[in-house]
Amino acid sequence: MTARRIVLLGPPGSGKGTQAVRLAEALGVPHISTGDLLRSEVQNRTALGLQAQRFIDKGELVPDQLVAEMIKQRLQGMTGFVLDGFPRNLKQAQILEGVTEVERVLHFRLDREEIVRRLSARRVCPQCGRVYNLLSSPPQRDAVCDLCGVALVQRTDDTPEVIQKRIDVQYAREIGPMLEFYSARSVLREIDAHGDIETVYGAARRALE
Ligand SMILES: [Zn+2]
Repeated sequence: MTARRIVLLGPPGSGKGTQAVRLAEALGVPHISTGDLLRSEVQNRTALGLQAQRFIDKGELVPDQLVAEMIKQRLQGMTGFVLDGFPRNLKQAQILEGVTEVERVLHFRLDREEIVRRLSARRVCPQCGRVYNLLSSPPQRDAVCDLCGVALVQRTDDTPEVIQKRIDVQYAREIGPMLEFYSARSVLREIDAHGDIETVYGAARRALE
């Protein structure tokens, strides 16, 4: 039987978001991205959205418990989903376990060097804030924003040294403990995310059977 309650894990740059959309479509289940969910709660001024807004206004991260509450409400009564961006750490994984039974966790694995290569190709327009990637979504003209014609810049936190440090911290503190947690439950599958979108998608589909 094909798994229908699915969690996707992986570093930024792994193509996880693209795969999440395709998998959800193929399985006929909703794709739930934490970012989208948070934005829609804030926009619709729900009780949880208003609480989240207070943290966002202060420039703080929305707390685990609040995000978990949104996910909980969204997942209520659902028999299938592709979760993307949640859980983000062991604590959230434990909360999720109290909400629903996850059938399969796909970890999109990329070498550290490749993550750095993909993320350091990120450029942003200083005028409109649009984000480009010189490898995967380049602007039409060299290093210039399609919308404003302004020269693109690299964020200071997208330099190789900063990215490497960020990855190491994330894996040590957040992703590693989650992988152990799901591995112990025999629901974890490793997906090699180095290939092209089709190859990675094929591997992800097989891992759901
Ligand atoms: Zn622009």
